[in-house]
Amino acid sequence: MHRTLPSARELATCKQQRFSAWKPWTVGAPNVAPRAPTASVRCVAAAVAQPAAAPLVASHASHATTPAHPIPADDTHDAEQLPALPTWTPPANRPGLYDQQGRLVLKALTLPELEAWCAAQGEAAPANRALQIWRWMYADPPAGSWVRSLEETMGRQNGFAAKFVEKVGPHVSLEGGLKLSQVVRASDGTRKLVFTLLGGEAAGGSIETVLIPVVRQQGLRDRLTICVSSQVGCAMNCQFCYTGRMGLLGNLSTAQIVEQVVEARRFLAQEGDRTPLTNLVFMGMGEPLHNTEAVLAAADIVSHYLGLHISHNKITISTVGLVPEMRAVLARTRVQVALSLHATTDEVRDWIVPVNRRYDLATLTAALEEMFPKEEEAAIGSLSSSDEAAAAAVSHEAAAAAAGSSSSLGAAADVSSGPESERWLPPVEQLGSDAPSSSSSGSSSSEAGKGSSKEGRSLLVEYTMLHGINDTLDDAHRLADMLRRVNCKVNLIVFNPHKGTRFQPSTDEDISAFRSALIRSGMVCTIRDSRGDDEMAACGQLGNVGLSFRPSPILDAPERFRKFLLPPSPAVATKQAATSPAVA
Ligand code: SF4
Repeated sequence: MHRTLPSARELATCKQQRFSAWKPWTVGAPNVAPRAPTASVRCVAAAVAQPAAAPLVASHASHATTPAHPIPADDTHDAEQLPALPTWTPPANRPGLYDQQGRLVLKALTLPELEAWCAAQGEAAPANRALQIWRWMYADPPAGSWVRSLEETMGRQNGFAAKFVEKVGPHVSLEGGLKLSQVVRASDGTRKLVFTLLGGEAAGGSIETVLIPVVRQQGLRDRLTICVSSQVGCAMNCQFCYTGRMGLLGNLSTAQIVEQVVEARRFLAQEGDRTPLTNLVFMGMGEPLHNTEAVLAAADIVSHYLGLHISHNKITISTVGLVPEMRAVLARTRVQVALSLHATTDEVRDWIVPVNRRYDLATLTAALEEMFPKEEEAAIGSLSSSDEAAAAAVSHEAAAAAAGSSSSLGAAADVSSGPESERWLPPVEQLGSDAPSSSSSGSSSSEAGKGSSKEGRSLLVEYTMLHGINDTLDDAHRLADMLRRVNCKVNLIVFNPHKGTRFQPSTDEDISAFRSALIRSGMVCTIRDSRGDDEMAACGQLGNVGLSFRPSPILDAPERFRKFLLPPSPAVATKQAATSPAVA
């Protein structure tokens, strides 16, 4: 018997994607500890964000299987009464494949998957039908218009026929599960888009996406970088990051990640802003490789040249160093990878990037040397004094033009592509090509192996400069030594303070000296200044700790670093005393 819609059990699985409760600061904790906190998390997030949504907080027990949002009466349909569609095998491990009403979310599918679905529906020309849907969802006007339903296209050129809409429409959703609720504008032109989540693991909560303008030299066209979120909050608890303070409230689905780009294009069109959106960084809220399947599928979708057309070379996934997941990224896609390193000793990294307790620096470095091998070891002291002088003359702004604004702190794609940011640097090998990412039959898996480091992929190492913590010349020398066999560039990031933080940014002099030491050691190094920091849109400033019912703890600092920390605010000190675990 043909079945159209997923069973209740399948739906429950799709809707209740479990996420890890692993707390990286807990030594020896399992990497993935199944739990089902979604309901209570959703209740709290929803109660704070949408106090009027009474059904959301009816009872914790009921949330296990009850849609997080009430279904509007005019959208309600009895799925079992609909004519059956043919059986279709959905992609495995794809988060958020169905919405609360049991409809297939088409934005969770890559183009080849959409084509397979169209074939299963008996379409005579499934490739054409899939492309038609794809173009309406993702292509710029007039070809697309980023429509929200099949009905929107009816009566328009190349729109869908009433017969097709009637047959398929009730079973599918073209929505992405986000609602733009606020736009925050910083003085430097950075814009932060705040979205309310309409479904998924943290329905009712909110995420933030940042649009960063990159103003370039005369003769070069300005462009935009979009910094997208992959989770609501983050489990990694990096101590200098505001998002990390939230803890993890839930993973975003593939469609919710893709929709951030679609909504950004809609927003720019409404603003009359024709600046091309060319770069995408997974450096917003969350650790992308803690939600790998959703992120990789989303990267595949946004990079397709017949849709949102952001080149693989201009997409960067940033991670704190989840080694197995980094290998998966290299094997399955051609996107660029950035590593949030931030420390040169296990003592410091165990504290400020607690995931180091699982993958310590020795383990991480060995993996990097294997994944991003450098053909020839950099010659220490190989640069001339004139090279160094040229480097010293470069202002922060030059590198800052390489955009980036996020909690994971980096802008790899921009750094690798912006001549304004690298005119003083040794030449960097071209990373892949700008050719269309895949044909209509391409997919992540079909790209396997194309992005191996042996073919030129390099790593961007992000290093946030924290006064007195990780910014000494000894740190610079250790960093150069650690990375001497890794094909990489280093991006030094000016720390952006946020409410409650005890860290302070390094001085300009310390940053400059650190960079010079790296350059003398043969490293390629840029500095990135803050963007959007006056409106909490900069690196490490995204999120809202107030939405979290259980913020992550502030970890105790090793004794010798305490003199560099600001005194804790009374509220933070009280909470810390109550929640902070002992540091191993
Ligand atoms: S820096 Fe990135 S990985 Fe670390 S807590 Fe912030 S969002 Fe999470």
